[in-house]
Amino acid sequence: MTSELTYRGRFAPSPTGPLHFGSLVAAVGSYLDARHHHGKWLVRIEDLDSPRCIKGAAENILSTLDAYGLHWDEEIIFQSHRTSAYQEAFRLLNENGMTYPCACSRKEIADSVLRLGCEFIYPGTCRDGLPRGKAARAWRIRVNEAHISFTDKSQGNISQDLATEVGDFVVLRADGLFAYQLAVVVDDAFQGITDVVRGADLLFSTPRQIYLQRLLGLKTPSYMHLPVAVNTQGEKLSKQTLALPVNISDSAANLYKVLMFLRQNPPVEIKRGTNSQILDWGIDNWQPGSITCHHLQVAE
Ligand code: GLU
Repeated sequence: MTSELTYRGRFAPSPTGPLHFGSLVAAVGSYLDARHHHGKWLVRIEDLDSPRCIKGAAENILSTLDAYGLHWDEEIIFQSHRTSAYQEAFRLLNENGMTYPCACSRKEIADSVLRLGCEFIYPGTCRDGLPRGKAARAWRIRVNEAHISFTDKSQGNISQDLATEVGDFVVLRADGLFAYQLAVVVDDAFQGITDVVRGADLLFSTPRQIYLQRLLGLKTPSYMHLPVAVNTQGEKLSKQTLALPVNISDSAANLYKVLMFLRQNPPVEIKRGTNSQILDWGIDNWQPGSITCHHLQVAE
């Protein structure tokens, strides 16, 4: 178990739009867990996928966190400034023969592969070399018989057979950007993160991240995946499903709503409190064991 003195948690939003209730759940959950353990809570802006980033969204997210009383420690890091660290990790993987160039287009993969849920399992076409006359597009990591298991603090025991359930996955994309899976591993290690608390939409990305941590000789943090907030149609709250931004004027009500969503059973009196009173109650009474172990939960 992480000692209280060394706990380092984080919230790592992608600046693709303003915070909505779903991202507020991840922010508050990671904040309460960190503060309950007298730990640090860091913020990292995941603006790596520049085509998806929206101008002004990072500033908007940060000012919303601040207005909600979610004050972070240390300097914020921006993934857009971290390319050389990702390059170095990529170089190491390359040096160890763990990467290979891939010429397949999305369409070629889609036409020839097995589909598990909404993920394609790469069939390994370029594993032993690029087909003649084809140029490299992306770079993949070799997945050799990796059966990864971990115990998630909210979702329990999770196992994934990376070779049959995911396949060789992309670490350097065809557009030249490093993939989220690589960047998150490098950055969590760089920031000394001991405890990752985030949405369960990333639960099945975690084995890929643990695999990369092992290849790069990095420590694996502990993980807690919170239920993802969905609307009554069962769709994840997101920009695509037109989730509304959380307003600053409703901050106390929204913080209370997050405590309810996380099944913390807050007393109704604190609903009329200030943000810091609500958060302090949440820190003192934090019961991660009460969080339902569902991946999805309707935000009411
Ligand atoms: N940037 C990701 C998101 O906003 C979160 C990544 C993570 O917490 O590892 O969904």
